[in-house]
Amino acid sequence: ELYNKILEMKGNIRVFCRCRPLNTEEISAGALMAVEFEAAKDGELTVKGNGAPKKTFKFDAVFGPQADQVDVFEDTAPVATSVLDGYNVCIFAYGQTGTGKTFTMEGTDEARGVNFRTLEELFRIIEERKQHFRYEICVSALEVYNEQIRDLLVSSHAGATAKRLEIRQLGEGNHHVPGLVEAYVNNMSEAWDVLQTGSNARAVGSTNANEHSSRSHCIHCVMVKGESLLNGECTRSKLWLVDLAGSERIAKTEVLGERLKETQNINRSLSALGDVIAALATKSPHVPFRNSKLTHLLQDSLGSGDSKALMFVQISPHENDLSETLCSLNFASRQD
Ligand code: ADP
Ligand code: MG
Repeated sequence: ELYNKILEMKGNIRVFCRCRPLNTEEISAGALMAVEFEAAKDGELTVKGNGAPKKTFKFDAVFGPQADQVDVFEDTAPVATSVLDGYNVCIFAYGQTGTGKTFTMEGTDEARGVNFRTLEELFRIIEERKQHFRYEICVSALEVYNEQIRDLLVSSHAGATAKRLEIRQLGEGNHHVPGLVEAYVNNMSEAWDVLQTGSNARAVGSTNANEHSSRSHCIHCVMVKGESLLNGECTRSKLWLVDLAGSERIAKTEVLGERLKETQNINRSLSALGDVIAALATKSPHVPFRNSKLTHLLQDSLGSGDSKALMFVQISPHENDLSETLCSLNFASRQD
């Protein structure tokens, strides 16, 4: 496949940039756009404004404000085949809060996102291959908040302290989280129900649901066991769908106590992720997986020969967000 060749050339990492549209309030307040998309089809966008010189950034694909969920999925769909062929795949959404990370991954009922569409594609291909392969699928949902892993499929009522989960290594390339619920699913609607249950559990126990979701990483994992009916050969692979915590910097002077610790943990895990991706892209012999729970958890699915990663860098077009936008674009362009 052409797509696989592109991935190989890029060290198995592709970076897409997606910019949300200005919303109605911003438009009626006369907001100015700080991002141009004339060369979006060539994977380029240009940032300007606030008197700064124009700067162009290049990605594997650029989705401007006009691009819809179907456009985005066209370039994402091939990962479903990869997963069923035995590759581990990680899809991330990175960016400032409010730029569309959750919109891209989860989507809405009217505009389904990458998670739903990729699962649907998985089950479509499983059906198509059923003469030759049998697949077993199970799913997990977890979040990493303040460097602690929480199982989103274990119901915990408000105020209850969730069981702390740790990452263990059973052998080379075999990290796992003992005790994490893995739910077997037979079809798309079962899979989606379980993952929605997980997403809905995020807010439980937090005083401000929006704030909590912007400060934790939400992770869905789809585990695939495949067996060839021709020769009995087996494959095992994982698809990780990761809605990352907001990347915005928070003024140090405004942050104290618990909030400071939270901020430091988010910065630590996002910069650890950036370091890992940069090390992989440059084929550095040392990849620093152990610097955060997030990278440690994803270790087996990032960087080995049979893994692929796709990062959506989400940005705002608004001139007022320009400095965060530049931070996100610079974070992602470290991969080049
Ligand atoms: P984040 O998860 O990064 O904080 P959200 O996904 O919650 O951001 O998006 C913020 C708001 O913008 C939501 O109301 C969402 O529906 C809307 N939005 C984001 N991206 C798009 C898009 N590409 N098209 C239309 N609406 C979008
Ligand atoms: Mg979100």
